Amino acid sequence: MVRELVVATKNKKKLKEIKEILKGLSFKITSLADYPDAPRIIENGKTFSENAAKKAVKIARWTKKLTLGEDSGLCVDALAGMPGVYSSRFSGKNKSDLKNNLKVLKLLEGKPLNQRKAHYVCAAALADEKGLLEIGEGRCDGLIDFRMKGSLGFGYDPLFIIPKYKKTFAQLGEKIKHKMSHRYYALEKAKTIIQKYIEKHRLG
Ligand code: IMP
Repeated sequence: MVRELVVATKNKKKLKEIKEILKGLSFKITSLADYPDAPRIIENGKTFSENAAKKAVKIARWTKKLTLGEDSGLCVDALAGMPGVYSSRFSGKNKSDLKNNLKVLKLLEGKPLNQRKAHYVCAAALADEKGLLEIGEGRCDGLIDFRMKGSLGFGYDPLFIIPKYKKTFAQLGEKIKHKMSHRYYALEKAKTIIQKYIEKHRLG
């Protein structure tokens, strides 16, 4: 029997990271690209966990498959936690990663490095057709650089400095990012939830 895990996302770069981190899990990983008629998810939750649960439950009900809902974003201390759950649409209707990054830079203009603390958060929720199973959260701490650096990763990675390396995630690349990111920690928890689910349902 082929076990399938649906990842409730259309974001190709995020999916690539999720697949990379979940490598070794004996599941065929699909996404919303494989389910083009799946219902639209409105991300109107106040927290990452709320949004992640919403994605997982809605898509699991529709596909009748074990589903992972992932919601993530950047929280900047000096901006009272913004952009937070608005990370992907921070620059408004005609959003882009570049515009989002430039908006963060503008809002932090003049602030020294010790006032540029930030963290990424990732919530990974698992659901099956009966409803929500569990949610795992991960966090990664860093600083916002004075300009964009590097071309790897996605989103705010060109601005997000990892203090230990004094480089941004966009400079460090996936080998390092996937062992210490918010997504890595959340998905490690998701793996445990999936394992418990397999044992409980005697799958495979
Ligand atoms: P979501 O699809 O609503 O979860 O959007 C997440 C948004 O948060 C992305 O579009 C990025 O702007 C930002 N984000 C989340 N995780 C990362 C990451 O690992 N690197 C850079 N930006 C991220």
